[in-house]
Amino acid sequence: MPILVTGGAGYIGSHTCVELLNAGYEIIVLDNLLNSKRESLNRISEITGKSFPFYKINLLNEGEIEQVFIENDIEAVIHFAGLKAVGESVRLPLRYYHNNITGTINLLNIMKKYDVNRLVFSSSATVYGMPEKVPISEEFPLKALNPYGRTKLMIEEILKDLFESDPNWSIALLRYFNPIGAHESGTIGEDPNGIPNNLMPFITQVAIGKMPELSVFGNDYQTADGTGVRDYIHVTDLAKGHLKALEKVASSQEIEAYNLGTGKGYSVLEMVEAFEVATGVPVPYKVVSPRPGDAAICFADASKAKRELQWTAEKSLRDMCEDSWRWQYNNPNGFDKNLIATGTGNPHLSKSGDFFNTKIE
Ligand code: NAD
Ligand code: UDP
Repeated sequence: MPILVTGGAGYIGSHTCVELLNAGYEIIVLDNLLNSKRESLNRISEITGKSFPFYKINLLNEGEIEQVFIENDIEAVIHFAGLKAVGESVRLPLRYYHNNITGTINLLNIMKKYDVNRLVFSSSATVYGMPEKVPISEEFPLKALNPYGRTKLMIEEILKDLFESDPNWSIALLRYFNPIGAHESGTIGEDPNGIPNNLMPFITQVAIGKMPELSVFGNDYQTADGTGVRDYIHVTDLAKGHLKALEKVASSQEIEAYNLGTGKGYSVLEMVEAFEVATGVPVPYKVVSPRPGDAAICFADASKAKRELQWTAEKSLRDMCEDSWRWQYNNPNGFDKNLIATGTGNPHLSKSGDFFNTKIE
């Protein structure tokens, strides 16, 4: 029986589809391609040598979701679909609440109707707000600081209420820390619309010459070098965490939250240096004012996932930097093949996309 992957054309969803197919799962992808491209689905097939059904459906349309459940005998759902830009959520809160919360309720209604009650949900470390200490464990108080974060928190609450009302459900709430990197083939990866909000896509766009320099948001935090510290996790490790969570929800009846992070924190300047060392490409930067709402330090206590899911992140920071760069270099315009590359190119990459580790002059 297939696994339904909502948001499967997106960044984390596409990497999870690859891992699911490689592990022998059947999958069905549902996505409205609001923040992704159909080409990512072709690439998933290229990497795995497998095809799968795709439904271009908006979760706001309950009738269309129902059609997927009528046509398929679904075993479980991994629910990635949602809007995720913090700044946009502050400007357009109603859009975020409607898309993320109404979309999830529609999905849950149909799951309930068709007696599909195994769910893995994409939550986020953002539900911890400004943590008072680190590492952050699942028992920490929850407090979202913006509409996007509140959609995650509210959905977690909705799912807890659902489980209370009917203990036949089994739900994993996966609280991701900072996913970066790309599939090692360099054929799928993060494809932000416009100017990237997150650090690593910004670094790779500076490295390829699309942006002149990185703005480092503040260097006066209480951290070793004054810049913000985060728990960066390779997207393939994160994807594998979903397979472990799927096994867990298949074999239990509970609702549990799990941090998916490495348990290690790196500062912005450490990330810049790690990227330069791994790729040989310089990343010019300037320090600007802190970004409002940013925590100084945020990293996970990932021991619960290790204990209960038998999952730990395996890839190194170097892997994360190399794979991010391979994706960016091979796809300067993301999945949009019609655009002409605007990057300045990287002398350190061979044609096959493997790069030589040259020293930075
Ligand atoms: P993404 O934008 O690349 O993928 C989300 C996908 O959902 C997109 O393909 C989009 O088209 C689709 N989608 C959005 N609304 C939809 C709707 N109404 N109907 C159908 N499809 C819809 O994002 P991502 O980085 O892959 O994130 C996946 C999930 O993980 C999101 O829920 C996000 O909030 C969460 N998350 C992401 C991060 C991160 O840093 N990337 C961190 C924590 C949590
Ligand atoms: N950051 C930065 N410049 C950027 C983007 C991010 O200095 O252009 C910093 C940000 O302040 C934070 C870290 O990099 O300390 C990670 O930011 P990101 O937005 O990727 O993740 P989040 O803050 O949501 O955890």
